[in-house]
Amino acid sequence: MDDAPTLGLDLDATLIHGALGTVIADLGRDIEVEQGIAGIHDQVIAEGHRLVGEDPALAYDWQATVARICATREAVVPFDIAERLAEVADERTLLLEDATVPVLRTIGARGWRRVVLTNGWRRYQDPALRAVGLTEVIDDVVTADAVGAPKPAAAMFAAARGEHGGGLVHLGDRLDDDVLGAHGAGARAILYCPWAPTAVHGPCDEVGQGALRGFLRDLAQRQSARVHPADPQVRPDAVITTIEDLPALLPAFAEPV
Ligand SMILES: [Mg+2]
Repeated sequence: MDDAPTLGLDLDATLIHGALGTVIADLGRDIEVEQGIAGIHDQVIAEGHRLVGEDPALAYDWQATVARICATREAVVPFDIAERLAEVADERTLLLEDATVPVLRTIGARGWRRVVLTNGWRRYQDPALRAVGLTEVIDDVVTADAVGAPKPAAAMFAAARGEHGGGLVHLGDRLDDDVLGAHGAGARAILYCPWAPTAVHGPCDEVGQGALRGFLRDLAQRQSARVHPADPQVRPDAVITTIEDLPALLPAFAEPV
């Protein structure tokens, strides 16, 4: 047990754009070309979205979803998703900002633990982390398969904090998984939104509350987020549009709530 503060870091659409979507598209195309069975890709994506609402623990097991859909269509699964991701991660994983690695290095040097907190499964996310050089600037990785329940489950945030006593603040792009999840677990939340209007940048106590309410309503709609945008738990503690704004904000979150 120590008093080190923890920074949780969502991965997809916060730090990176991963290759999973293109791999599932490849899989659908292979089945269509080689087996003459169309529409598998759309079915797999729709089933993934349905599961997020109905059985979230299964929603991120893409290989199992593919296997089930293929069985109903009498198609043969053409390849293993994790193996294909490992092959293509280097060329298809995009780091959203060039500054990410140096910024996370700076934050680590200031005594923060940096923990990736992602609903993607470990075997799908590890190749992406390696591909963009993030493994060297993070201290731990918490995935939904290891915890048994994806964000917004409080268990994910508890796993990120571990035995450390300092503050826990989570950076993410989604109002449901990231902001609501962090607040439900007694942590604080910084929302990453590159297109957020200037009127809502920075600590949310210091911005116009009318503009903030309008922004959150708009964002909830765009994300089809599973939240009520007026719920106080959905209001982040700060909004940033670039990772470069993160180091200056963090000292305010170093102590536990
Ligand atoms: Mg995300």
